Amino acid sequence: MTPAYRLRALARFARPIIAAGAVLLALPTPWVLAAEPGTLEPIDPAGFRACVARLQPAATAKGVDAATFARLTRGLVADASVLESLDYQPEFKTPVWDYLAALVDEDRIEQGRAMLVQWRDVLAQVESRYGVDARMVVAVWGVESNFGQRFGSREILPSLATLSCFGRRQKYFSGEFVSALKIVGDGHVAAEKLRGSWAGAFGHTQFMPSTFLRTAVDFDGDGRRDIVDSVPDALGSTANYLKRAGWRSGQAWGLEVALPPGFDVATAGRKQRRALADWLALGLRRADGGAIEAAALGVAPDTPAAVLVPALRDAQPGRGPGPAFLVFRNFDAIYSYNAAVSYALAIAHLADRLGGRGPFVTPWPTDDPGLGRAGRRALQALLALRGHDIGPVDGMVGKRTRAAIRAEEKRLGLPETGRAGGRILEALRAGR
Ligand code: CA
Repeated sequence: MTPAYRLRALARFARPIIAAGAVLLALPTPWVLAAEPGTLEPIDPAGFRACVARLQPAATAKGVDAATFARLTRGLVADASVLESLDYQPEFKTPVWDYLAALVDEDRIEQGRAMLVQWRDVLAQVESRYGVDARMVVAVWGVESNFGQRFGSREILPSLATLSCFGRRQKYFSGEFVSALKIVGDGHVAAEKLRGSWAGAFGHTQFMPSTFLRTAVDFDGDGRRDIVDSVPDALGSTANYLKRAGWRSGQAWGLEVALPPGFDVATAGRKQRRALADWLALGLRRADGGAIEAAALGVAPDTPAAVLVPALRDAQPGRGPGPAFLVFRNFDAIYSYNAAVSYALAIAHLADRLGGRGPFVTPWPTDDPGLGRAGRRALQALLALRGHDIGPVDGMVGKRTRAAIRAEEKRLGLPETGRAGGRILEALRAGR
């Protein structure tokens, strides 16, 4: 929840709170926006404990015994801040080129290549057991947790317990909560190691607890499935996930293509599949102009394929539709890992870059391209030099960096976007 949104929400809810005699800025208990629109209610510790206790039958059904349930739920305290994340409304829609710029930057490519070397033996075993390309496994690892450097810091059990009892998706989150109890109860990951995103994704692979129970594997053979402290378990689990999502060994995920003049973009979309040969008959070529050869991609002329034009919606007028892609079944397997075309494309492209392929041939349709983390750090350093308090210069663009960008955009007479892009970086670099 952004500060502006929070203020609006508080203004909307202030009257009933004041009528109830509460002191707005010194609330005795954490307050939550209740599921009922327009209402606000305090988290009552006793009510929260009762709610968690009601989840015991579901935990029992998952194989969590009463003693384990009691041990793991004793002392759980609700964390209202996760509900802000649940209801977070992004201020602006991030264009696809920003995701790609940040997720597939030189830092990540270089680190990914180092990981391919460091974990060569394990990756060879993973490849032979699951049939999933090592570069793809490493690319997922890089995008999901920056190769184990960013797991998220929230304690999963209190977060999921809170989301099970408050907010919009209690049924879903209570399933994840009891799955998390099962993981800890069975000794795979210790409760204090179970930290991650607000929604409950954790470890190197950022699996949700239910995904863990379905697909995590004990690849190093120590008897525990541990995607937090064991890189082999994490890499094996990622490959197992992709295999179960329909991965076809030896097939490409897809490739960048050049669309023929007059191509009907209404036929693009991940679910609009046609045989590869039908697309080729329309005149699609490789992005470098060469012919597309099915055999070189590990597919057949009748293999189903879809065309994606991911920047179409964000394209600036007069710049064309941007890069286009032909994608096969393996793209869908990646997509299922993180259901957004921009993320799936980032993982697929990172895997290609780890294999030595170059950047996309077609430029993104914008005059204000996205920045990788080095560019974001450079921008943050310039903002700090101008006296903005943006916190650490770490390439992570948060609220303070966005506010500083907005202030500088205003000063320069640019549209106020708060977006960390090439235009504001160049303007500040030029000393404007
Ligand atoms: Ca293990």
